[in-house]
Amino acid sequence: MGETSINFAKASSAALQDQQLRGNFRRAMDGLMSKRAVQFADTAEWNGVRTLGASVRLRALSKLPELLEKLEANCTKNGIQVHWASTIDEANAIVLSIMQRVNAKLVVKGKSMVSEEMHLNAFLEKHGIESLESDLGEYIVQLDEAMPSHIIMPAIHMNTKQIAHLFKQKIKEAEYTEDVAQLTDLARRVLRKKFATADVGISGVNMAVAETGTLCLVENEGNGRMSTTVPPVHIAVMGLEKVVEKLEDVPPVISLLTRSATAQPITTYVNMISSPRKEGEKDGPNEIHLVILDNGRSGIYADEELRNTLRCIRCGACMNHCPVYTKVGGHAYQAPYPGPIGSILMPQVEGLEKRGELPHACTMCNACVEICPVKIPIVEIMGRLRSEAVHPGDAVRGAGSHASKAEAMVWKGWSMTYASPLAYQFATALLAKLGNAAPTSLPLLKEWTNVRAKPRFANRTLHALAREKGIPDV
Ligand code: SF4
Repeated sequence: MGETSINFAKASSAALQDQQLRGNFRRAMDGLMSKRAVQFADTAEWNGVRTLGASVRLRALSKLPELLEKLEANCTKNGIQVHWASTIDEANAIVLSIMQRVNAKLVVKGKSMVSEEMHLNAFLEKHGIESLESDLGEYIVQLDEAMPSHIIMPAIHMNTKQIAHLFKQKIKEAEYTEDVAQLTDLARRVLRKKFATADVGISGVNMAVAETGTLCLVENEGNGRMSTTVPPVHIAVMGLEKVVEKLEDVPPVISLLTRSATAQPITTYVNMISSPRKEGEKDGPNEIHLVILDNGRSGIYADEELRNTLRCIRCGACMNHCPVYTKVGGHAYQAPYPGPIGSILMPQVEGLEKRGELPHACTMCNACVEICPVKIPIVEIMGRLRSEAVHPGDAVRGAGSHASKAEAMVWKGWSMTYASPLAYQFATALLAKLGNAAPTSLPLLKEWTNVRAKPRFANRTLHALAREKGIPDV
């Protein structure tokens, strides 16, 4: 593992010891799974809308360069200023330059996973700009100085009691209460004041419509609408894959998104933003900027198989149904995108050198594939990334560097043994003879043997048994 790599094994072991965390996740995930199942109870309807949603995303990706150009042209025509960023450093610099031009000191943010990818809050704080999360879950994790643990419900790892203590500790006027309505009301009062005085509002984008130059944003708390309409400047940040071709593509994708994410037929707010405030209008920002971030996505796009990763609509359903994520929680991934989608996206964005463990954090049970509303072949991509981690290639940034020399030699030996019937029979016969005599714990393999019982080897191999019964080798 390289120096800069993230240690998922260590972080997930720690999470597994935390009974409170496991209980919080178990309850939350069970609730989400059963509510979602009610939304898609009609299998024929699910199959139909899912096929439609997948085809919308596939069509958009098949024309991505053309649609991005169209989006830029139509946004510009509408008065939305479009900026392109190859890296997160470039995206942050663009955001900062807009802030500095308007002398911004306070920013309110609607929920945006791309801004998490950019580590935007920390970046702005470093430059003396207060950046306040206004989505309740994001606000809680910001107060706790933590990362979101889920892309839809950032504070899902915490229970009411933990949030009550946090509010009491971090908010000056807070009285201790475990009453959810009172806690929500307190956060609302704090945030309301900030909306009124913020210089800039930042939001994400759920979909950007190329044919009309419209930014679509779904949310439940109204904070997204406040962030995009009250401050005089609105900056929207999006990954370049979020474009769809036509306005008529929006309803099926929104339906899949909201039902998969929060088990709602539709969210409380659906914002369609097409221009800054026009002459004679009473509200809305004077300026809208759209920052389109690449950050490794065009590399992913160039590979036909990996490109499927970009279909994602960030509903979070794969996390809720993943046997690994639901046990260890989101923080173990130490990434803005955890769970199955994070395990395939993060290695492609940041390289296998840093994120090579994540494709292995998977049981290959296929639950994520069955639940994904846009049919992403997550497990196939997981397998591809595992293979890339041991067979150096150019497709994935940092590919191959995750495997240490010793590990690479083990895999080489393994594949040579499996490729030769003679070598395979010799190896299995050796294990049958000596396997049970081997010590239960070897210092070299302690990471493995510390948490697993040594398997008991059969005294005779399958080949030997077959020969005894007169079954010929094929
Ligand atoms: S991979 Fe599929 S299930 Fe997971 S977040 Fe993306 S769209 Fe949702």
